[in-house]
Amino acid sequence: MKHNLNIQPLNTWINQAGKQPLVISGPCSAETEEQLVATAHLLAQTGKISALRAGIWKPRTRPGEFEGIGSIGLEWLKRAKAETGLPTAVEVATAKHVEEALAAGVDILWVGARSTANPFTVQEIADALRGVDVPVMVKNPVNPDLSLWVGALERINNAGITKLAAIHRGFSSYEKSAFRNEPMWDVAIALKTLVPDLPIINDPSHITGARDLIAYVSQKALDLDMQGLMIESHIDPSVAWTDAKQQVTPAALSDIIDHLALRKPEVRNTEVNDKLHELRNQIDKIDDLLIQKIAERMQIVEKIGNYKKDNNITILQVNRWDEILQKRVGYGKALKLSGEFTEKLLELLHSESIRKQTEIMNDEAGQAKEKLTHA
Ligand code: PEP
Ligand code: MN
Repeated sequence: MKHNLNIQPLNTWINQAGKQPLVISGPCSAETEEQLVATAHLLAQTGKISALRAGIWKPRTRPGEFEGIGSIGLEWLKRAKAETGLPTAVEVATAKHVEEALAAGVDILWVGARSTANPFTVQEIADALRGVDVPVMVKNPVNPDLSLWVGALERINNAGITKLAAIHRGFSSYEKSAFRNEPMWDVAIALKTLVPDLPIINDPSHITGARDLIAYVSQKALDLDMQGLMIESHIDPSVAWTDAKQQVTPAALSDIIDHLALRKPEVRNTEVNDKLHELRNQIDKIDDLLIQKIAERMQIVEKIGNYKKDNNITILQVNRWDEILQKRVGYGKALKLSGEFTEKLLELLHSESIRKQTEIMNDEAGQAKEKLTHA
């Protein structure tokens, strides 16, 4: 996939002022003026956050839940900003939200996960942003679709917004796990690989849905070199009107931040560099060998495919596959590889083998299709 994004570095639009890591925090929803302003003061007093977030318009999965306090909340945010000096951030989902937020002097806008999943909504937001110089953060869509995420960033970028960041908030899945939204780190890593300049901010609150897991996910995000964290906080989480289970008090937030280990992506110390270089060389050699061995395996798979074709034998033989799986998973475990890992790896090899053999079996049909697609 190619992209078409032109992005300014994060430090051109958010003043981190030496605070490590970059943290944006505040309530899931602005509920009352007192709740918002008091939370903002406590957050500012920690000296650890760079911007105040608050949901003013809430996209709720079911109707009848609290849908946000609406425009009046923008006035409260203005007061919180005036009293604490913290820049403010809100979610926008319509052109009207954009206009009202900008008129109220909100500093940073973000597009929520449900909106990112809908190109019409994103385009409406993008059109409202044309000619405006405001930073915009785009949450991943609710479904794990990298193109949809990149597409939303491109729409906003095409409207002239270059102060852009992505927010990784995880993906909904039907199967329930310990997390509210599956992080699927691979998708965020794929975005980072595709657009290395794009800052990615992790949202451990919406990933975990549970305050006790926030520290763990935050650390993982930093270890994966994400640029910052957006964490929901509330003066009294137990009575929060939305997302009560995942919000933390400003004091708990401060504690989480204090316990995060910051690791540097590049090490300057030459001794460490040499050691790292040597270990990476070893990895490179092993990777080359792995690829070579996999290629050899595929050549044998091809031979088997031809043999099966000549003798009219089915491609898949479940017993044989089961045997491979059992034996190798056991062997892997003896060598300290997790069963899940070995199984996934073998499944990948197996599905490629099946694909190859299917190609061989359907040689003539395949050639005819080739001709058609190249015609
Ligand atoms: C939020 O930030 O409160 C929110 C609604 O998040 P998301 O769009 O990630 O669900
Ligand atoms: Mn929330």
